This record gives sequence, C-alpha cells and structure tokens, in this order.
Amino acid sequence: MKAVQHFCTITRHKILVMKECFQVGLYKQGLLHDLSKYSWTEFRVGCKYYQGDRSPNNAEREKTGCSLAWLHHKGRNKHHYEYWIDYGDNKDAAMTGMKMPVRYVVEMFLDRIAASKIYKGAAYRDTDPLAYFLGGKGQYLMHPETEELLEKLLRMLAEKGEEETFRYVRHDILRRDKNKKASVEGIETTTDAKIRDEQSSHA
Ligand SMILES: [Zn+2]
Repeated sequence: MKAVQHFCTITRHKILVMKECFQVGLYKQGLLHDLSKYSWTEFRVGCKYYQGDRSPNNAEREKTGCSLAWLHHKGRNKHHYEYWIDYGDNKDAAMTGMKMPVRYVVEMFLDRIAASKIYKGAAYRDTDPLAYFLGGKGQYLMHPETEELLEKLLRMLAEKGEEETFRYVRHDILRRDKNKKASVEGIETTTDAKIRDEQSSHA
C-alpha cells in the first residue's frame, strides 16, 4: 500500500489544477476538482495500484479487467467527457458524447496540462498535452464541438504557451459563454449594457 505517495500525487495534481482554474476565473471548479479521489472507493484503489508515472486506474483495469475506481470517478466529475456519454437520438449509435458545457471543457483542458506536468516532471513541454490527445484521436466518444474546442485550446497551448492561452480562455472563451448564458436567461450583461449605451449615445 502506497497511501502516502498516492495522497501526495493526487494532492499535487489537485493544487496544480486549482491554480490553473483560478488563473482563468473558475474558482468553484478549482476548489471542487477531483474531490471524489479522496473517497474510500477511489482512494484505496489508488494506494493499491500506485504507479507514479501513470494512472493507477489503468493498473487496476489490467489486473482485474475493470477499474471500479474509474467508473466511480467519471460518474461524479463533469470535467471528464466520459461523464457525458449517454444514449443518442439516433438508434443506430447507441451511446454517444453529449455536448459539454464550455466551463467543463476548459476544466478538462487544464486537467490534461496538470496531468502531463505531474507525469513528465522536468521534461514537460507545452506540446505534451496535445501529443497525448492526438495519440488517441478518432477513438474518443466526444461530441464533435467539444472535441473541436479541446483541440483548439491544446493547439494554442502548444504554439503560443500558457500565458497567452489562459488569457484567451479567461477573456474570450469563458466571458463569451457567460454572456451567452445570461442573454438566454434574460439577464443584462456588461457587454449588453455597453452595446445599449453605445446605441443610445448614437441615437
Ligand atoms: Zn478527474
């Protein structure tokens, strides 16, 4: 049992994701990210199959044919696209990926950066999360728009680095999403107010 090592690994990961989430303004998600890893169902598997350089869930799956820790985890954490797999409208394709809310796509993006950093250590490069994604591309049961946004962010990270990409996520992606949601709910946003003021000053 490697309880201490496992506890340190998941806590280091959680702190990294929290910092990244705070940088883009996702405070609540930053605090709640991966909390279920501390539940007994997930924690005991993590200790038993501790690897250090890859997920213990993969080791559990290889050993027993099924990772109960992963099934528990993906059913409770909305930043995993597997959480959003459901029966599709089309009866031929029984299971399909539902479109994920933008803020969870962002959390998934940040999660992948943190995971690459933990597993790669000092050798980490901004291109690593994209390389991991491309390695499995075509096999993901992900909604096409969700996959497109994730790939776009990973490419931007690889080409322009963290600072510029995080700024874009905070000021463009998430703000646009917030404004869109508010206008659907009939709440006036700062952008709406700006447009209204501009229009009335021209009138
Ligand atoms: Zn997770």
